[in-house]
Amino acid sequence: MLTVKAYAATSATEPLVPTTVERRDLGPHDVLIDIKFAGICHSDIHTARSEWGPTTYPIVVGHEIAGVVREVGPAVTKFAVGDRVGVGCMVDSCRECDNCRKGLEQYCLKGNIGTYGAVGRDGEPTQGGYAQAIVVTEDFVLRIPDGIELDAAAPLLCAGITTYSPLRHWNAGPGSRVAVIGMGGLGHMAVKLAHAMGAEVTVLSQSLKKQEDGLRLGADHYFATSDEETFSKLAGSFDLIINTVSAKIDLDAYLRLLAVDGTLVNVGAPEDPLSVHAFSLIPARRSFAGSMIGGIAETQEMLDFCAEHGLGAEIEVIPADKINEAYERVLASDVRYRFVIDTSTL
Ligand code: NAP
Ligand code: ZN
Ligand code: ZN
Repeated sequence: MLTVKAYAATSATEPLVPTTVERRDLGPHDVLIDIKFAGICHSDIHTARSEWGPTTYPIVVGHEIAGVVREVGPAVTKFAVGDRVGVGCMVDSCRECDNCRKGLEQYCLKGNIGTYGAVGRDGEPTQGGYAQAIVVTEDFVLRIPDGIELDAAAPLLCAGITTYSPLRHWNAGPGSRVAVIGMGGLGHMAVKLAHAMGAEVTVLSQSLKKQEDGLRLGADHYFATSDEETFSKLAGSFDLIINTVSAKIDLDAYLRLLAVDGTLVNVGAPEDPLSVHAFSLIPARRSFAGSMIGGIAETQEMLDFCAEHGLGAEIEVIPADKINEAYERVLASDVRYRFVIDTSTL
């Protein structure tokens, strides 16, 4: 057993505090990773605050992990000491069900094993990336290509794959018109990725405060949703809308922006249920869909795509004692565009 420094939430209402966490001894297929950077995903906040149902405390959240291999188990074949690696939202799955066999481990019929807040195969609760090291079975470890700095790579492990997967699935590319709702952690990656795939990209943000950044990151157009005219001007004009908003929004207003056969994919996961009026879908054969992260092979494909296109996240690296402040800033939409914890400060 290895004891490492970490930061944990101890209740839904108190700030996160320094702690330690135990990592299991290396099994034959396990990789021990020295975590260098951990991104702060809004899902960490939803979980730390029990917004998706009761969380079991204490919990170390964090599923945007980038680091370096310190040690490998005797049967490990894919990684060696010193390799630059990442871990995302899952650390295992059943590997046998139809979905796992198709490389859709995130949709494992028995439930994927989350990086935190789940129960690992060893029967112990999983604890995430706001920590100095983690042990993960090699099949759920990703290779971070040399071209991407570790700090800018960390957010790719969740924000990157969560936007890459639906963009690919719904064929974003030359000739397609993609809108992204919310320019936060996921949203800014959606803009970069959709642009790199060749789509025409529009940002739908609450205000024009981040317009300059949005255009620099690859958006062709940028609109404020606080301006009612945005909705009349853009009616029927997108093939694909990716909703990354962490709160409940008026989906009907956004669905009307879809062209015939267009799809609005919800990746944002608000605490409260979303409602959709049937007549926002029926008159233009529109679809309303959801999507969760991506499979392991697809996550590697995304990392390689990012390296090829020179993409990483726009980040603000923070020391551990700024985590609670960073949470407040994320909640205030004051993040440009992902906070990343330097785990050497834990
Ligand atoms: P984030 O950095 O906080 O970004 C969310 C953005 O949404 C904000 O920056 C803001 O953008 C906009 N927004 C926030 N509150 C809003 C409101 N009340 N009305 C309208 N717009 C609002 O969060 P994130 O880390 O990108 O995560 C976004 C959501 O995705 C979270 O719910 C998270 O749990 C979920 N998530 C889902 C998956 C999945 O697999 N499906 C994976 C990761 C995260 P503007 O300032 O531009 O308006
Ligand atoms: Zn996440
Ligand atoms: Zn499975």
